[in-house]
Amino acid sequence: MSKIAFKAESKRLLEMMINSIYTHREVFLRELISNASDAIDKMYYRTLTDDALTFDKDDYFIQIEADKDTRVLKITDTGIGMTKEELETNLGTIAKSGSLAFKKENEITDGHDIIGQFGVGFYAAFMVADTVKVISRSVDSDEAYVWESDGAEGYTIDSHDKQSVGTEIILSIKESTEDEDYDQFLEEYRLKEIIKKYSDFIRYPIKMEVTKSKPKDDESDEYVDYKEEETINSMVPIWRKNQSELTDEDYVNFYQEKHYGFDKPLKHAHIKADGSIRYDAILYIPETMPYDYYTAEYEKGLELYANSVLIMDKCADLLPDYFSFVKGMVDSEDLSLNISREMLQHDRQLKLIEKNITRRIKRELTQMLRNEREKYEKFYDAFGRQLKYGVYSDFGANKETLQDLLLFYSSKEKKLVSLEEYVERMPEDQKYIYYATGESNERIEKLPQTELVADKGYEILYFTDEIDEFAIKMLMQYKEKEFRSVSSGDLGIDTTEEDKKAEKEATEHKDLFAEMKTILGDKVKEVRVSKRLRTHPVCLATDGDISLEMEKVLNQMPN
Ligand code: ADP
Ligand code: MG
Repeated sequence: MSKIAFKAESKRLLEMMINSIYTHREVFLRELISNASDAIDKMYYRTLTDDALTFDKDDYFIQIEADKDTRVLKITDTGIGMTKEELETNLGTIAKSGSLAFKKENEITDGHDIIGQFGVGFYAAFMVADTVKVISRSVDSDEAYVWESDGAEGYTIDSHDKQSVGTEIILSIKESTEDEDYDQFLEEYRLKEIIKKYSDFIRYPIKMEVTKSKPKDDESDEYVDYKEEETINSMVPIWRKNQSELTDEDYVNFYQEKHYGFDKPLKHAHIKADGSIRYDAILYIPETMPYDYYTAEYEKGLELYANSVLIMDKCADLLPDYFSFVKGMVDSEDLSLNISREMLQHDRQLKLIEKNITRRIKRELTQMLRNEREKYEKFYDAFGRQLKYGVYSDFGANKETLQDLLLFYSSKEKKLVSLEEYVERMPEDQKYIYYATGESNERIEKLPQTELVADKGYEILYFTDEIDEFAIKMLMQYKEKEFRSVSSGDLGIDTTEEDKKAEKEATEHKDLFAEMKTILGDKVKEVRVSKRLRTHPVCLATDGDISLEMEKVLNQMPN
């Protein structure tokens, strides 16, 4: 039996494909610029092997021109161009990537500059254009050709008189509708914005004539508009540079340029990873908490680039929740992207990067804690609670990573201390790490329950955040020392003397306690003699290991 080919309505198929691949129309420009950059790269590879050709950097650029009157947007490159056959095969066949073939043919295994691989990027042009014209002359041909298509009924190819090697992509931008604003793609400022956003680090200049204004003459206050060619992209990404070439100020500028935050970052880390997955990353620890940080609106994530082209604004998979405050970017040549470049094909690569990044952030924070205490406390003030949530969530799976980064207010030091510092100071005979919970340090200070422990000369950690005690319950112990609430029944303190006295008093005043219980009724379970009070006449205690504060929180939770 012979196979019969499926017939598909190409126009609908194309529309469906394009509209399901891309979530933002504006990325058509990223795709066309990436193609132009690929074409120049190919030219560069050619010059390496062909002695007749030289690569003069100034000759290679990408030009963007917009004309509102004719609704034409033009993207010109001085790259390798396409022959008639190439126009047919590369643009006439959806999902045919000439770039992928080029990489294979030329055995470019590091592949590291050429972006294309799926053979669909070009068609993104039809998201914004009614017709697309491609005028191209290949370095291998004496003739130029024009390919033209409205995306629906196929395409035509004709001769053209273009003299120079390279390609012009001419888009007839659609008319705006009520739902879609296409006019924006003819606006100078908007085009600049899109180029900056997605293609800032393309390594060839992206030039555009921009409107500027100047005084009419030296004496005049009157301004006139004039056009000047500008290179829109900054070309060399800061993360590709060596740390030694960069100053702290460069990093701060990048942070602010990228709008990672309005503050000045407390710290940055520049990673150049060359292991099983290669990537560059710049990470920042912000100083102040974003206003929506502890809300559901806050989105964590790092910018993700593949080959210096922006793929995703906030890639959440690159950061664990407990480090969700970290800002920055990752650029990798090794990522296998899916067709829309909006997702990645392999989680494995991302997981690896996430693991490395997490380790690095921990190291940076630990160093800050040890060497720049004041800075660390500033950080902790803003984001410490997130670390405690981290300890608490995932059933304490992250406790190893996080426990050394926690700080609590100390009764002895009257400032924040780490668990390590606490344990190091513990006297020989102290069995537990003691803590007391309350609304504020001042309130805890006055708690009768702290008296016995404090009297023994032991340090108490003050838990004023609701999450504190929950987090510590997940930790259970630190360096083999268990945590104990000062209001717990067993404090591990020898009270034989006190016990005897208390028992005696309990028997002597049995009737009094019974009477008190009758009066208080259901409000208390029992009234008994305390073994731990020093100066206070009375205190409330709980049975078991749950403190009063924790009980309060638990009672507030919906069942
Ligand atoms: P991809 O870039 O993923 O290969 P595209 O659909 O973006 O897929 O482009 C298809 C092919 O068309 C490219 O691989 C390339 O061979 C060719 N092409 C597109 N734009 C240009 C250009 N400006 N100059 C030369 N070749 C181009
Ligand atoms: Mg492409």
